[in-house]
Amino acid sequence: MLFNVAQLLKSPVGTSLESDFNEEQVQLDDELKLSGPITGHARMRHINQGLLVDGWVDLTLEMACVRCLKEFQQPLHVTFGERFVPTVDVVTGAPVRFVDEGDDVFFIDDHHQVDLTEAIRQRTLLELPAVPLCKPDCAGLCPSCGHDLNTGPCDCEPEVDTRLSALKVLLQNDSTN
Ligand SMILES: [Zn+2]
Ligand SMILES: [Zn+2]
Repeated sequence: MLFNVAQLLKSPVGTSLESDFNEEQVQLDDELKLSGPITGHARMRHINQGLLVDGWVDLTLEMACVRCLKEFQQPLHVTFGERFVPTVDVVTGAPVRFVDEGDDVFFIDDHHQVDLTEAIRQRTLLELPAVPLCKPDCAGLCPSCGHDLNTGPCDCEPEVDTRLSALKVLLQNDSTN
Protein backbone atom coordinates (compact mmCIF):
# COMPACT_ATOMS: atom_id res chain seq x y z
CA MET A 1 0.00 0.00 0.00
CA LEU A 2 2.50 2.53 -1.28
CA PHE A 3 1.60 6.00 -2.50
CA ASN A 4 3.99 8.46 -4.08
CA VAL A 5 3.30 11.84 -2.52
CA ALA A 6 6.07 13.96 -4.10
CA GLN A 7 3.56 16.04 -6.08
CA LEU A 8 1.31 16.48 -3.07
CA LEU A 9 4.23 17.67 -0.91
CA LYS A 10 5.07 20.27 -3.58
CA SER A 11 1.45 21.48 -3.66
CA PRO A 12 0.21 24.24 -1.34
CA VAL A 13 -0.74 23.32 2.23
CA GLY A 14 -4.39 22.29 2.23
CA THR A 15 -4.20 20.38 -1.04
CA SER A 16 -5.58 16.87 -0.81
CA LEU A 17 -5.48 13.72 -2.84
CA GLU A 18 -7.85 10.76 -2.69
CA SER A 19 -7.23 7.26 -3.84
CA ASP A 20 -9.02 3.90 -3.90
CA PHE A 21 -6.85 0.86 -3.66
CA ASN A 22 -7.06 -2.89 -3.95
CA GLU A 23 -3.97 -4.85 -2.93
CA GLU A 24 -3.41 -8.57 -3.30
CA GLN A 25 -0.86 -10.53 -1.28
CA VAL A 26 -0.42 -8.07 1.56
CA GLN A 27 1.59 -9.35 4.52
CA LEU A 28 0.47 -7.49 7.64
CA ASP A 29 1.74 -9.57 10.55
CA ASP A 30 2.80 -13.14 11.35
CA GLU A 31 -0.27 -13.40 13.58
CA LEU A 32 -2.72 -12.03 11.02
CA LYS A 33 -3.62 -14.43 8.22
CA LEU A 34 -5.27 -12.47 5.42
CA SER A 35 -7.69 -14.13 3.06
CA GLY A 36 -8.07 -12.25 -0.20
CA PRO A 37 -7.16 -8.68 -1.05
CA ILE A 38 -7.31 -5.52 1.04
CA THR A 39 -9.55 -2.89 -0.50
CA GLY A 40 -9.84 0.62 0.79
CA HIS A 41 -9.83 4.34 0.38
CA ALA A 42 -7.27 6.89 1.54
CA ARG A 43 -7.38 10.68 1.66
CA MET A 44 -4.07 12.49 2.02
CA ARG A 45 -3.98 16.16 2.97
CA HIS A 46 -0.90 18.37 2.88
CA ILE A 47 -0.49 20.05 6.27
CA ASN A 48 2.30 22.24 7.64
CA GLN A 49 4.46 19.39 8.85
CA GLY A 50 3.78 16.62 6.37
CA LEU A 51 0.54 14.84 5.56
CA LEU A 52 -2.65 13.83 7.30
CA VAL A 53 -3.77 10.48 5.94
CA ASP A 54 -7.15 9.00 6.78
CA GLY A 55 -9.45 6.41 5.32
CA TRP A 56 -10.60 2.84 5.71
CA VAL A 57 -9.91 -0.70 4.54
CA ASP A 58 -11.99 -3.83 4.25
CA LEU A 59 -10.14 -7.08 4.79
CA THR A 60 -10.86 -10.68 5.75
CA LEU A 61 -8.86 -12.63 8.32
CA GLU A 62 -8.56 -16.38 8.79
CA MET A 63 -9.23 -17.01 12.48
CA ALA A 64 -9.71 -20.07 14.68
CA CYS A 65 -13.00 -20.39 16.59
CA VAL A 66 -12.36 -20.61 20.35
CA ARG A 67 -15.19 -23.14 20.82
CA CYS A 68 -14.88 -25.60 17.92
CA LEU A 69 -11.29 -24.72 16.87
CA LYS A 70 -12.33 -24.60 13.21
CA GLU A 71 -10.90 -21.92 10.94
CA PHE A 72 -13.36 -19.33 9.76
CA GLN A 73 -13.27 -16.05 7.87
CA GLN A 74 -13.71 -12.85 9.84
CA PRO A 75 -14.41 -9.74 7.74
CA LEU A 76 -13.19 -6.49 9.30
CA HIS A 77 -13.73 -2.84 8.48
CA VAL A 78 -10.74 -0.87 9.78
CA THR A 79 -10.46 2.91 9.82
CA PHE A 80 -7.27 4.90 10.20
CA GLY A 81 -6.14 8.50 10.59
CA GLU A 82 -2.41 9.14 10.83
CA ARG A 83 0.19 11.83 10.43
CA PHE A 84 3.10 11.22 8.06
CA VAL A 85 6.19 13.40 8.10
CA PRO A 86 8.94 13.64 5.46
CA THR A 87 12.47 12.33 6.01
CA VAL A 88 13.91 14.32 3.08
CA ASP A 89 12.90 17.68 1.67
CA VAL A 90 10.94 17.12 -1.52
CA VAL A 91 12.51 20.14 -3.27
CA THR A 92 16.13 20.18 -2.05
CA GLY A 93 16.58 16.48 -1.18
CA ALA A 94 18.15 17.50 2.13
CA PRO A 95 17.41 15.30 5.15
CA VAL A 96 14.60 16.59 7.35
CA ARG A 97 14.76 16.11 11.10
CA PHE A 98 11.42 15.75 12.73
CA VAL A 99 11.43 17.72 15.99
CA ASP A 100 7.95 17.29 17.44
CA GLU A 101 8.80 14.27 19.59
CA GLY A 102 6.45 12.24 21.72
CA ASP A 103 3.82 12.27 19.02
CA ASP A 104 2.73 9.21 17.08
CA VAL A 105 3.83 9.77 13.52
CA PHE A 106 4.82 7.66 10.55
CA PHE A 107 7.60 8.58 8.16
CA ILE A 108 7.44 9.27 4.44
CA ASP A 109 10.44 7.41 2.98
CA ASP A 110 13.31 9.03 1.06
CA HIS A 111 11.54 8.25 -2.24
CA HIS A 112 8.56 10.36 -1.07
CA GLN A 113 6.38 7.31 -0.56
CA VAL A 114 3.72 6.78 2.06
CA ASP A 115 3.38 3.14 3.12
CA LEU A 116 0.08 2.44 4.87
CA THR A 117 0.93 -1.16 5.80
CA GLU A 118 2.19 -0.52 9.34
CA ALA A 119 -0.66 1.85 10.20
CA ILE A 120 -3.23 -0.68 8.96
CA ARG A 121 -1.48 -3.52 10.82
CA GLN A 122 -1.69 -1.58 14.10
CA ARG A 123 -5.34 -0.59 13.56
CA THR A 124 -6.31 -4.13 12.58
CA LEU A 125 -4.85 -5.54 15.82
CA LEU A 126 -7.12 -3.14 17.74
CA GLU A 127 -10.19 -4.35 15.83
CA LEU A 128 -9.70 -8.08 16.44
CA PRO A 129 -12.63 -9.78 18.18
CA ALA A 130 -11.76 -10.62 21.83
CA VAL A 131 -13.57 -13.97 21.52
CA PRO A 132 -13.39 -15.23 17.93
CA LEU A 133 -16.43 -17.40 17.13
CA CYS A 134 -17.24 -19.08 13.79
CA LYS A 135 -20.89 -18.17 14.52
CA PRO A 136 -22.51 -16.59 17.58
CA ASP A 137 -24.21 -19.84 18.63
CA CYS A 138 -21.32 -22.22 17.94
CA ALA A 139 -22.03 -25.40 19.98
CA GLY A 140 -18.34 -26.22 20.40
CA LEU A 141 -16.76 -29.62 20.99
CA CYS A 142 -17.87 -32.38 23.39
CA PRO A 143 -15.53 -32.17 26.40
CA SER A 144 -15.32 -36.00 26.59
CA CYS A 145 -14.85 -37.18 23.00
CA GLY A 146 -14.07 -33.99 21.12
CA HIS A 147 -16.97 -34.45 18.69
CA ASP A 148 -18.03 -31.25 16.91
CA LEU A 149 -21.49 -30.67 18.41
CA ASN A 150 -22.40 -28.35 15.51
CA THR A 151 -22.79 -31.49 13.39
CA GLY A 152 -25.15 -33.19 15.91
CA PRO A 153 -24.94 -34.95 19.29
CA CYS A 154 -22.30 -37.57 20.11
CA ASP A 155 -22.66 -41.00 21.78
CA CYS A 156 -21.27 -39.90 25.13
CA GLU A 157 -23.39 -40.66 28.23
CA PRO A 158 -25.08 -37.52 29.46
CA GLU A 159 -23.36 -36.33 32.64
CA VAL A 160 -24.85 -37.95 35.75
CA ASP A 161 -26.11 -35.51 38.34
CA THR A 162 -23.98 -36.11 41.46
CA ARG A 163 -26.89 -35.42 43.84
CA LEU A 164 -28.97 -38.15 42.17
CA SER A 165 -26.18 -40.72 42.35
CA ALA A 166 -25.75 -39.98 46.07
CA LEU A 167 -29.47 -40.65 46.55
CA LYS A 168 -29.10 -43.93 44.66
CA VAL A 169 -26.36 -45.08 47.06
CA LEU A 170 -28.60 -44.20 50.03
CA LEU A 171 -31.50 -46.21 48.61
CA GLN A 172 -29.26 -49.21 47.93
CA ASN A 173 -27.93 -49.09 51.53
CA ASP A 174 -31.53 -48.96 52.76
CA SER A 175 -32.60 -52.07 50.89
CA THR A 176 -29.69 -54.15 52.28
CA ASN A 177 -30.80 -53.56 55.90
ZN1 LIG B 1 -17.05 -22.65 16.21
ZN1 LIG C 1 -18.90 -36.82 23.20
